[in-house]
Amino acid sequence: MDNKKYKKKIEKILPFSFMDKINRIQFVYKSLKIVLIVGLITFLIWFPHMVRSHFEIYLFLSKASALIGLCLLSLTIILSLRNNFVESFFGGLDKVYKAHHFVGIIAAIVILLHPIFLIVRAIPDWDSTLVYIVPGMSTSITYGILSLYLMLILLAFTLIIKLPYKIWHFTHHFMGVVLILATWHTLASARHIIEFPLLGIWVLLFASIGIISYFYTLFLYRIIGPKFRASVEYVKIKGDITEIKLKTIDKKIKFHPGQFIFIKFPTLENSFEMFPFSISSSNSEDLIRISAKMSGDFTSHKLPKINAGDKIYLYGPYGKFGEKYLFEKKDMIWIAGGIGVTPFISMLKHKNSSKYNKINFIWTCKDEKSAVYDKEIKNIIKENDNINYILWLSKERGRLSAKAIMDLCHPGEKINDKLIFLCGPNKMMMELSDQFIKMGAKPNNIIFEDFNLI
Ligand SMILES: Cc1cc2nc3c(=O)[nH]c(=O)nc-3n(C[C@H](O)[C@H](O)[C@H](O)COP(=O)(O)OP(=O)(O)OC[C@H]3O[C@@H](n4cnc5c(N)ncnc54)[C@H](O)[C@@H]3O)c2cc1C
Repeated sequence: MDNKKYKKKIEKILPFSFMDKINRIQFVYKSLKIVLIVGLITFLIWFPHMVRSHFEIYLFLSKASALIGLCLLSLTIILSLRNNFVESFFGGLDKVYKAHHFVGIIAAIVILLHPIFLIVRAIPDWDSTLVYIVPGMSTSITYGILSLYLMLILLAFTLIIKLPYKIWHFTHHFMGVVLILATWHTLASARHIIEFPLLGIWVLLFASIGIISYFYTLFLYRIIGPKFRASVEYVKIKGDITEIKLKTIDKKIKFHPGQFIFIKFPTLENSFEMFPFSISSSNSEDLIRISAKMSGDFTSHKLPKINAGDKIYLYGPYGKFGEKYLFEKKDMIWIAGGIGVTPFISMLKHKNSSKYNKINFIWTCKDEKSAVYDKEIKNIIKENDNINYILWLSKERGRLSAKAIMDLCHPGEKINDKLIFLCGPNKMMMELSDQFIKMGAKPNNIIFEDFNLI
């Protein structure tokens, strides 16, 4: 199979493409490092106890995979906490969710090895083998079997069977139940956890933090998370975009340009769910603006029915997209695809935008009709000599490429240390990143915001 076909096949199974160099550098390697550290520490704590007892290879491997798998499963849930420190480590919540997904897959594989080694050890004694497959034959093992089957069903919903996002999201919450059952199984069936205090403390601490994180994300986040009450002040439909201006009620939300918020709309259907939207206004304005493209059921049919005066809840802010823009003094290339323009508008409106180095800003849209913020952008930058703005209409000029950008913005120049900001369809961002890297861009100088959290 050639490389492209192989890549496509993998992308079908995995809902994100960690095969792209930029993804590998920005979250896959970091996730692998954490997985290795957690796995190694668990192994080192447990290994001395194991060698002291009677050594059996399959038992050894099955217990190692169980303990490491449990810690990795907890880690997966801890990663979904929307924690600021974790977000900074990965460079944005979109990357944290991808890391969560990636670590989750590794955890599942390691956990799956546990019953496989036990079954291989038991074969050909079928009675002993069935104990690991059929629930109810041994109480303590039953918790483990239920945990495993539930995990496999939930994994199938994530990797193989494509469910509508809302249904998938609902089912995904049950991963916490997998962790609770797995912890219960470990406590009930693994005596060495109780016998060896250091091992017990390490594994149970991990599992407890994972379980607490699960209940926090499921219930407590909505109450004690970074929550702001707000009212809708203005709603306008611009083509296929619902533009909403919001005013926070009790306290002001402090955000950096380029950040996003999760919004809960209690007056609309799906009132339990929260939707992420980048802020497209400046942090010095009174009202917060979001611009939501009609892309799915909620944004096309429910959100446009929101009315001025409706009360909503904001959670956040999140995102590290604008951070390098604020703090690094380098020439920049900004590339927005379609609705991916929203964080850039907030960055353009920032009071310091005229003080930065040269910024070439390319917004690619299908046609003139869809470029609803063209006038607004031209207005914002008219006094900023350092910003060169280009509207790229793909219907007329074809697909945007890194070469076309360099020819337009930096003819004859090398990419050197320029910062490249990308926000738009995932495919566009990955293709352009690859092209820029081939031209000599440093992968860490490519900053992207992915509007897909899975
Ligand atoms: C960091 C970030 C910033 C974003 N900023 C903007 C923006 O400024 N303007 C804009 O138009 N869109 C933005 N989006 C995308 C927007 O959140 C989705 O288009 C919207 O949630 C789709 O909802 P739907 O029910 O209409 O579509 P669906 O067809 O149900 O979903 C389409 C896709 O949107 C995502 N999605 C749906 N619901 C949720 C949810 N509750 N939480 C997380 N993801 C969800 C899923 O990946 C799903 O596959 C942003 C997304 C992210 C992650």
